[in-house]
Amino acid sequence: MASVVVCARVSCSLQGQVCCMRVRELRGWPNASEVWLTKVGNTIRSREDRFTVITLVRPRAMQILLLLLILTLIIRLTSSSPPLDPVACSNGMSNCTVTNANGYFPDRSICRAANAIYPRTEQELLAAVAAAAVAKRKVKVATRYSHSFTKLTCPGGRDGTIISTRWLNRTVQIDGKKGLLTVESGMVLSDLMRVAAAAGLCLPNSPYWSAVTVGGLLATGAHGSSLWGKGSAVHEYVVGIRIVTPAPASQGFAVVRELGADHPDLDAVKVSLGVLGVISQVTLALQPLFKRSVTFVTRDESDLADQVAAWGGLHEFGDIRWLPHQRKVIYREDNRVDISSPGNGLNDFPAFWSLPAHEIVAARVEEERREEDNGGTDDDARCSAAQQSTVALERQGHGFTNDGVSFTSYPVVGYQHSMQASSACVDSPEDGLQSACFWDPRLRGPSLYNPAFTVALSRAPSFLADVWRLRDLHPSAFCTLHGAMGVQMRYVKASSAYLGKPEDSIAVDIAYYRSRTRGVPRAHADVVDELEQMALRKYGGVPHWGKSRNFAFDGAIARYPKAGEFLEVKDRYDPDGIFSSEWSDQVLGIKGSPIVVGKGCAIEGLCVCSDDSHCAPEQGYFCRPGKVYAEARVCRFEEDNEARIDDEL
Ligand SMILES: Cc1cc2nc3c(=O)[nH]c(=O)nc-3n(C[C@H](O)[C@H](O)[C@H](O)COP(=O)(O)OP(=O)(O)OC[C@H]3O[C@@H](n4cnc5c(N)ncnc54)[C@H](O)[C@@H]3O)c2cc1C
Repeated sequence: MASVVVCARVSCSLQGQVCCMRVRELRGWPNASEVWLTKVGNTIRSREDRFTVITLVRPRAMQILLLLLILTLIIRLTSSSPPLDPVACSNGMSNCTVTNANGYFPDRSICRAANAIYPRTEQELLAAVAAAAVAKRKVKVATRYSHSFTKLTCPGGRDGTIISTRWLNRTVQIDGKKGLLTVESGMVLSDLMRVAAAAGLCLPNSPYWSAVTVGGLLATGAHGSSLWGKGSAVHEYVVGIRIVTPAPASQGFAVVRELGADHPDLDAVKVSLGVLGVISQVTLALQPLFKRSVTFVTRDESDLADQVAAWGGLHEFGDIRWLPHQRKVIYREDNRVDISSPGNGLNDFPAFWSLPAHEIVAARVEEERREEDNGGTDDDARCSAAQQSTVALERQGHGFTNDGVSFTSYPVVGYQHSMQASSACVDSPEDGLQSACFWDPRLRGPSLYNPAFTVALSRAPSFLADVWRLRDLHPSAFCTLHGAMGVQMRYVKASSAYLGKPEDSIAVDIAYYRSRTRGVPRAHADVVDELEQMALRKYGGVPHWGKSRNFAFDGAIARYPKAGEFLEVKDRYDPDGIFSSEWSDQVLGIKGSPIVVGKGCAIEGLCVCSDDSHCAPEQGYFCRPGKVYAEARVCRFEEDNEARIDDEL
C-alpha cells in the first residue's frame, strides 16, 4: 500500500523529530490515528519507510515519552490551568451541557440540561429546588470540577436543571473546642483541610485527591485508607447535615431538613448519590491536628495474601500497592505520631502534578501507538516503562517530600493536612493552558479507565490468590495496569450508611488505557476484565459509586443489605423523583439496567459479553470464558481466528 506523508511540525516535537499524524485505513483499524516519528519535512512514501523511521527513533523517543506519561517527573511546574467548570451554557444560563473532569462519561456521552443555576446562599438554593419541584423538572447537582467518572451529574433528558454548588463554598462555623466544622457543601476538600488546620483541627481521613467537594465526596462514599477508629470514609465523620428537598405546595415546594447526629435519616443522606436533594451544609467532627509518619517499604510478594489481611490492623493509614508483573509489593507504613515529632513533610503525588500541554499530547500519541499498533503487542515496552516508573517513583519518595521541596529519606513526618491528600494541578495558578492535569479534556492527553471496587476483607486473600493465578498465566498482561500504580489496595470500614460499605473491605483501584475511538480494543483487556468480574461476581465486591464502568453496576445494589431503607427515605424526600435520573434508577435497581447491550459493548465496558459481536471479531477479539474464573466472559484476542478471517477476506 503506497502512501505519501509530508511531515509538518506539531506539538509533540522531540529535538528535531516530529510526530506526524494521519488517519490510516488499514483493515481492522478504521480511522485509527497513526503516528510517524521522523524529521521535519521528511517525505514518507511507503509503510516500509515508516517502519524504518519508527525503528530509528523509537528507543529514545519512547523512553522520554513514557516517563512523561507515567511519572510526570521530568519537569515540575508550579503553574497549571485549573479545569473548566463542568457546566457550559450557550445562552446565558440556559441550553447547557454537563460533563465530568474527563470531558465525557463512560458511555462516551456528555449530558444536556435546559438551564443551570448557581445559588450563593441557602435561600437561593431553596428557591432553585422549589422552582424545579413546581415544574416537576429533573434536577442534578454539579460541583466545582465534577470528578466522578460515572454519569451521576446528568439530570436525564434535555429539559433538566443543573444546580451548581460552585459558590456554596464557605465556612459556616468552626468550634475549635468541640472540634466541629460546618461548611457549605461545595467547599473543595483542599480548602476544608486548610480551614481546619488553621483552627488546629483536621479531618482524620479523606480521599487522596483533594479537588473534590464535600457534597460530591459524601454522595459517592469517597474514602482514603484506614480500619482504625471511624475508618477512612469521610461520611463517617459527619454529625450534621442540612439538605434541601422538594416539599408539598403547602410548604412552598421545598424545605430545608436539618439532621443531627442521631437522626435516623442521616444514614441515608450521608451517602446519597445525590438523589435525595441538595445538601446545603455539612458538620464534621474533626480531631485536633496531628502528625503522621510515612515510610514506603518494597518487598517481594510471597506473603501478600497474609499481609493484606493484617496490614490495615498494623498501620492506621496503611495501604498496599501490588505490582504483579514485577512480583513486588509496596507497603505504606503510615501512622499517627506525637505532634512534637520533627518534620514538615508534604504529600504531592506526581500523577496530580501539572504537565506542559505539549508533553501531555506527546504522551498520548506514544501511548496510542503502543496500545493500538499491531493489536497492542508491545509488551516489552509496556513492562519496561512500568518498571522505570516504579524506580523513579521510589526515588521520589512516592510524591512525599520531607520539607515541602525535596525527598531525602524515610520516614516523612508531617501534619495531617499536608499529608492526607494532594491536587497540585488544580491548585496551581492559571497559565493559559500551557500546562494542566494530564486528563484535562481541552488537551488530547492520556485517557484512562479508573475502575475501583471493594471486596470484603474476609474474602480478600482468596481474591488475591485468584488474581495471582491469573497473573502467573500471563504476567506481562499486568503491565497494562497504569505505570507504577499496579493494583492499589486501601482499607475501608463497614458503615452504618445504607449505601456505604456493608463490611470491612479492601478498596481496589486500577487504571488502564482507554482508546479515544469507540470500539477499539485495548491490549490484554481479557485479563483485566476477568480480574474485575472476579472481584464483583465471584467475591461479591461492590463498585465505587463514582468510578467504575457500566457493567460493574449490574446487580450491585443487591449487595447492599440496607438498600431498601435507602429507597424508603428517597420516596419520602423526593416522591416525584426529580433528583433521580435514568442512571440513578438503573444503579439503584429501580428501573432499567446500566448494561448497554450492542455491538462492541464489552470493549467499551458497557456489558459483559455473551456473544462475539459484543467484542470485536473483525479485529480478532472474541467472547471467551475467563482462564481462572471460568464464569467470567471476556473479549480475547485470538491470532488464529484473525488469520482465518484474513484468509476468508
Ligand atoms: C484524580 C482522582 C482521584 C480520586 N481519588 C479518590 C480517592 O482517593 N478515593 C475515593 O474514594 N475516590 C476518589 N476519586 C473519586 C472521587 O472522590 C469521587 O468521584 C467524588 O465524589 C467526586 O467528587 P466531586 O466533588 O467531584 O463530585 P461530583 O463528581 O461532581 O458529584 C458526585 C455526585 O454527588 C452529587 N452531589 C455533589 N454535591 C452534592 C450536594 N451538595 N448535594 C447533593 N448531591 C451532591 C452529584 O450530583 C453527583 O451525583 C478520585 C477521582 C479522581 C478524578
